[in-house]
Amino acid sequence: MNAVFPEDEYLKLSGIQHYAFCKRQWGLIHIEQQWAENLRTVEGHLVHERAHDVSVEHRGDVITSRAMTVASRELGVSGECDVVEFHKETSERDDAVFIHAYGGIYSIVPVEYKRGSPKINEVDALQLCAQAMCLEEMMSCRIGAGYIYYAETRRRQRIGFTDELCGEVRRIFGEMHDYYRRGVTPRGKRTKSCNACSLSDLCLPALEKKRDVGSYIDGAIEEGETET
Ligand code: SF4
Repeated sequence: MNAVFPEDEYLKLSGIQHYAFCKRQWGLIHIEQQWAENLRTVEGHLVHERAHDVSVEHRGDVITSRAMTVASRELGVSGECDVVEFHKETSERDDAVFIHAYGGIYSIVPVEYKRGSPKINEVDALQLCAQAMCLEEMMSCRIGAGYIYYAETRRRQRIGFTDELCGEVRRIFGEMHDYYRRGVTPRGKRTKSCNACSLSDLCLPALEKKRDVGSYIDGAIEEGETET
């Protein structure tokens, strides 16, 4: 990956959840600009609208910023955090930073709102970690953990930003930049994820067609080999 990306090469941060779900889905949305709404995406938008109602709220020692824009030159991405909480600290810590506008030392905690209940896969964790890495770069601080709020359970799940998770975020954005630069939509294959994919109507007929052409070519090669 490049050391620093110019702004005109920034990718959408939220694309990491599409890419982690299915590389081809990300390519169809972000390279080919195709999009299809289904129930899941509509529900997701409603949950996000609630998270984005207010911009900044002060309550006790916590300042809550909604719809905060974030970016990273190192990752070459920009996007928006549903919620970033600033927790006032009484003393200096490795994971806290002095914020002039708020007149004190604060630790920073990103919170992402999601529909449904906690999933076993790490798609949501990757997106949250990417937001935290942007915030770390912007604020010159360390962020140890954040939370994912699941609308169905109305509970937060803590996500620790381990070196492994951060490394995975870097690796994925590196791949996404490579595909984007080449203008290549990743190939896909039918998996159980296709049942929950908002682009299945667009994608699956194309996949089947490609498979038919592939089978035809394979067959033609086999026939040629038999003849010779
Ligand atoms: S239909 Fe399946 S292969 Fe195609 S984009 Fe969706 S998840 Fe990926």
